[in-house]
Amino acid sequence: MAEEYDLVVLGGGTGGYVAAIRASKLGLKVAIVEKRELGGTCLHRGCVPSKALLRSAEVFRQTKEAEDFGVTTSEPTLDFTKVQQRKQSIVDTLHKGVQGLMKKGKIDVIEGFGRILGPSIFSPTAGTISVEMNNGEENEMLIPKNVLVATGSSPKSLPGLEVDGEFVMTSDEALHMDELPASIIIVGGGVIGIEWASMLADFGVKVTVLEYLPHILPTEDQDISKEMVKQMKKKGVEIVTDAKVLSETLQTGEGVTIQAELGGETVTYDAEKMLVSVGRNANVTNIGLENTDIEVENGFIKTNANYQTKESHIYAIGDVIGGMQLAHVASHEGIIAVEHMANQHPHPMNAEQVPTCIYSNPEVASVGLTEQQAKEQGYDVKVGKFPFQAIGKALVFGETDGFVKMIANKENDDLLGVHMVGPHVTDMISEAGLAKVLDATPWEIADSIHPHPTLAEAIGEAAMAVDGNQIHG
Ligand code: FAD
Repeated sequence: MAEEYDLVVLGGGTGGYVAAIRASKLGLKVAIVEKRELGGTCLHRGCVPSKALLRSAEVFRQTKEAEDFGVTTSEPTLDFTKVQQRKQSIVDTLHKGVQGLMKKGKIDVIEGFGRILGPSIFSPTAGTISVEMNNGEENEMLIPKNVLVATGSSPKSLPGLEVDGEFVMTSDEALHMDELPASIIIVGGGVIGIEWASMLADFGVKVTVLEYLPHILPTEDQDISKEMVKQMKKKGVEIVTDAKVLSETLQTGEGVTIQAELGGETVTYDAEKMLVSVGRNANVTNIGLENTDIEVENGFIKTNANYQTKESHIYAIGDVIGGMQLAHVASHEGIIAVEHMANQHPHPMNAEQVPTCIYSNPEVASVGLTEQQAKEQGYDVKVGKFPFQAIGKALVFGETDGFVKMIANKENDDLLGVHMVGPHVTDMISEAGLAKVLDATPWEIADSIHPHPTLAEAIGEAAMAVDGNQIHG
């Protein structure tokens, strides 16, 4: 017997499950269809497990540096099995939390693979959903008034660079390594590649990053990208830019050998393993889009600002629509979509107000335009930059690398962007995010008192530096 719902969410990742909770709070009758585990990529194969491993790597590195703090320890050793167990226990705790939230919200969780069958006589607008059940039972039919497609994304590789899970891995396989390799080649110097490079180098692995573009972290402000090259090199990471990986030369067996073309020259690289981090494909296959008028552009589902597809009762959010493939973006989009279907008139999301973070050591965090983007858009800019070297708390922490950079419009003082690299900046960027939402100027940020001694003083100083008024530099 088909069950009727106000909303059926396809995919229980960060975008889907948050949207389901918001919908239930708005009084909608909701079902969520998930083929693997609630929590999706972020909880099981992304944000959470990778940050748990990064934290272990940080503790390992800091223990080695303990003598600088007057603490004498014996040479630390690494029990990678325990590192993995700790990671898994964090994931399991949070997974249980999400399951509990579904129960609390009286959201029906249907374990299986969902497909849109197209408009039916029961639901001419959103169409019937058929779920191929994980337990092998007969397909379940759901009849929703609205559908939210939140099927996420999967790692991609380069043509010819076959992922075998043993020698050539994506982040999915790398997260489950039983032991650390002595050396690794990372193909792709974007966010995921650099987080892994930083983590593995801190664990003592010899890392080589091969990046096709002239810069690693190509979407970041160029000052940040340059600083990260310096910081990665300090850890012993070899960064090779303008490197065209020649997939067809890949050889595996004892380890991995591959060639890359660097400005006309062919160079051979060897390592025990290879991690491919070259982006993610939207999960649009086999979910029944062909039964609808939904448009797919460059592999991603196309929506309007309220996340409605061409079929106005079918919404799509998160990694499956592309753009900023981030967990907090997916969940925010999910909330907007659900509020829109419940006639709540939500504020549209403004990409320039979305903070982005990289959890390497040092960390990177940004919001708004880079200096290069601001200039390209025709702004006459003024820039304030302040180093952590001059911040007392950074010295106390023994982490003085990096800076805060603030970009403003010379004409009217509008804040255009804030970019940070340094200690704990991922926990500091929300102040800049709020400043963007409130349309604050740098002098208003400086007017807000930053307690002493804190790392956030670097934000106040960078804000003053925009007009040359910094105190400690
Ligand atoms: P997903 O989380 O991918 O969830 C989609 C869900 O849909 C999955 O559970 C899938 O099983 C399910 N599904 C797919 N098709 C169907 C179907 N037909 N029927 C039923 N279920 C289906 N972002 C951050 O903001 N911070 C980070 O630190 C961060 N770190 C990351 C680290 C790594 C290694 C990776 C890979 C990603 C990271 N991300 C991070 C990105 C983040 O994980 C994603 O942006 C986020 O998970 C997107 O959420 P989503 O709900 O759109 O999709």
